[in-house]
Amino acid sequence: MQETRPQIREALIGPQASVRLVGGVGPKKAAVLEALGVRTVMDLLYNFPRTYEDRRNRVSVGELKDGVAAVFAAAVLSVSGKPAYYAKGKKTPLTVLVGDDTGAVEIVFFNSRYMDKIFVAGKRFLFFGTPQRNKGRLQLVHPDFENAAADGEYSGHGIMPIYALKSGLSQRDMQKWHEEALTAAAQVDEYLPERVVAGEKLRGISQALADIHFPEDKEALRQAKYRFVFEELLLLQAGLMRLKLGRESGQRGTAKAVDVTAEGFEKMLPFSFTGAQRRVVGEVFADMRSERAMNRLVQGDVGSGKTAVAAAAIYKAVKSGYQAVLMAPTEILAKQHYGDLSALFAGKLETALVTSGMTAASREDVLGRLASGGIDLAVGTHALIQPDVAFGNLGLVVTDEQHRFGVGQRVTLARKGTAPAAGRQALGTNPAPGTQTASGTNPADGANPALGTQTADAQAAGASYREAVPDILVMTATPIPRSLAFVLYGDLDMSVIDEMPPGRRKIATRSVTQGGRGEVYDFAAKEIEKGGQAYVVAPLIEDGEDGSVTAGLRSAESLLEELTARFPAHRVALLHGQMKQKEKDAVMSEFSAGGIDVLVSTVVIEVGVNVPNATLMVVENAERFGLAQLHQLRGRVGRGRAQSYCVLVLGSGSEDAVARARAMTETDDGFKIAEMDLSMRGPGEMFGVRQHGIPTLRIADLARHIRVAEKSKRTAKELLDSDPMLAKPENRAFGDKVESLFKDVAEVGL
Ligand code: ADP
Ligand code: MG
Repeated sequence: MQETRPQIREALIGPQASVRLVGGVGPKKAAVLEALGVRTVMDLLYNFPRTYEDRRNRVSVGELKDGVAAVFAAAVLSVSGKPAYYAKGKKTPLTVLVGDDTGAVEIVFFNSRYMDKIFVAGKRFLFFGTPQRNKGRLQLVHPDFENAAADGEYSGHGIMPIYALKSGLSQRDMQKWHEEALTAAAQVDEYLPERVVAGEKLRGISQALADIHFPEDKEALRQAKYRFVFEELLLLQAGLMRLKLGRESGQRGTAKAVDVTAEGFEKMLPFSFTGAQRRVVGEVFADMRSERAMNRLVQGDVGSGKTAVAAAAIYKAVKSGYQAVLMAPTEILAKQHYGDLSALFAGKLETALVTSGMTAASREDVLGRLASGGIDLAVGTHALIQPDVAFGNLGLVVTDEQHRFGVGQRVTLARKGTAPAAGRQALGTNPAPGTQTASGTNPADGANPALGTQTADAQAAGASYREAVPDILVMTATPIPRSLAFVLYGDLDMSVIDEMPPGRRKIATRSVTQGGRGEVYDFAAKEIEKGGQAYVVAPLIEDGEDGSVTAGLRSAESLLEELTARFPAHRVALLHGQMKQKEKDAVMSEFSAGGIDVLVSTVVIEVGVNVPNATLMVVENAERFGLAQLHQLRGRVGRGRAQSYCVLVLGSGSEDAVARARAMTETDDGFKIAEMDLSMRGPGEMFGVRQHGIPTLRIADLARHIRVAEKSKRTAKELLDSDPMLAKPENRAFGDKVESLFKDVAEVGL
């Protein structure tokens, strides 16, 4: 650490050190920077470049090569194209021919206002950019440039950072500000434990910050990047491990001893379990019997029968004297689960539906019975996690299709847990429902530290006084590549249903380009005449949304119009996320009942909906959907006995789109599709990592950095094994960092 007086240090890198300390950043620029997430000087230091431009490759014009970034000096030879002063905002290209005595090259500016004032014939400039061949000629589009000194000397720019911009910011300004902010980098204390830095041969923080912005050479950049990738993954792993550790050591669950076996439960079902379902139910039941709180993720491809597994867990929980909840991400899905489960448990359990669409009166009634324990099973949406929802004796929380929920929401629900009095339960006395008060909002120990990890003292004081938390069962139909599973769900144990119920037919999948569209809908007509139903999914609700006119995307509304005209004898209806809940429900239940033949919709139907009579899924602009999402959509058909079909209609025949469509036609293995999706789009896109409540990764890429992720996981484990609280002096700074990164998770009481 540098020897700087603390006040000065604080002034430079403290939380009060506004980015306005940097020269040239006034209130307006500061506001734009804030929109980029940059508020303080520290934020600026951590605003890493989006990419870099190698400006060391000084060449003459004759040496320019297609696709190779270069710096060159050249004089303006001629200017063509009229700048558009009058047509405001209109893009009129301006072409400037520049050259030296070795050759000439075209420079193109699309937004050419004022450019003709700058590029006057005979004037010399330095250009930075990557030439591209266009109709046989080398061209540079929008290169960076500056006035060349009279003698044309080039002082050397090295590797230049290129930052993400927002309107109102220029790349030049951003580079200047970041360069200035680097004076503060020297003041940043190392927060990774010394032995990690040494053991992994990582660049120290100050050097790494300097090099990530303005590296001397490629090696310096590589080292800086590695340090931050490793650091980011280490923080993530350590945070997730602490969540899990906190649960294991600090959170006592409830032992659900009443003897319900998988075989026993199976007798209630109209089918027998698959081997995989039976095994997973066994794993779940073992967790539930134990006093340790269950935190289990059940992965199973669409149609693998997760609901029956959840039902088994619910049944065991209720038979053991507890209440259970099942939370679904959409109202449609909640209602479907409610319908299925209330039928299955008719005469056995008291079941209720909790959604935001309920009338005040029925809501009040249901909430009252939930609090008193009069309801055994509540099925609902996030309406279940509203503050006024309290449970008498909650023992099991099941969330379905959990990729739609964040860690935070999952946890909020879990905290609506059982009362401190539940301590007695652990000793084997199952109290009758209703004898306990809800205590979800009442942390048992006021000193509950962030991440829920108890202090050693609290543990020593005796876990028996600590409130027992409900078991958590999370179900997801998004198969997660094993390599990634731990990173995303490090806080959960995992079960996989890797077998389909017998007798399922493969869904015939094909992809067509625009030319094949007509045939697709002829085929749809035939399916409908045979008595089937069809889904048609569009990427947008209405035309014009999201710049769709230029992108040539189809909208659900335009498809409704088109298909209504095309199928005059059939019933075509629309479903999308902006419709009122009542309307959505009405449409969905009518489709379910067979009153609608073609349902045009957006991805709202993506998740979990079950209409066995639907045999055709058409996805328009399939290139706009991720593979995992397409796989989910495809899973909406093939739920009955008839052969089902999925047709992907491509709006663009780009190589990528074709490759993805091919992948879908070639396999129906959700895990394989997940692996491909991961490698094609990266995990952020794939799982909506942001929604998980875990910190966003700035620089690490879970698809590319699996090896580093594994390494950092080992390091995190070593750290936590030797210092579970990360409280030793040498680990404290790191522990603070973990805590602040996981603040959002901690705030909801983990
Ligand atoms: P998902 O895993 O996608 O949530 P569901 O639980 O909705 O799948 O099950 C899909 C369909 O398969 C349902 O109609 C369900 O009744 C049926 N099903 C589930 N398990 C079996 C089984 N072991 N044998 C036969 N049908 C089953
Ligand atoms: Mg399901």
